[in-house]
Amino acid sequence: MPEMNNEGRPEEEIRMDEAIRIGLCDDHWSHLRQSLLEIGLGQYMSEDSTEMTEQMMAGTIDPMLAASTTIIRVALLSLGLDAIIQSGGCPLCTFRDIVPLITDSTAKSYLRSN
Ligand SMILES: [Zn+2]
Repeated sequence: MPEMNNEGRPEEEIRMDEAIRIGLCDDHWSHLRQSLLEIGLGQYMSEDSTEMTEQMMAGTIDPMLAASTTIIRVALLSLGLDAIIQSGGCPLCTFRDIVPLITDSTAKSYLRSN
């Protein structure tokens, strides 16, 4: 039986063109990068995506990649792929927009049962 995400869609149904549209927007990427620098991880961080890719190919995970992947994983588990795509692809923007998402789903739940 396929593993289900919280949207009730089997994991295997997540299309690649949807998955590659997920990522931190420029503002949240900058915020995360600055936060990692402020806590002293600068010496482990790549200068650009080329260096990040080279590090990854060599078996070293850049803190930005590790942190952003964690954020995306948490967002997929808690919000679901569709919500992230509908909010433009940035998981942190989706969390920012959480109140309308929750009120909509809550309304659907209550209106369906009445
Ligand atoms: Zn964002």
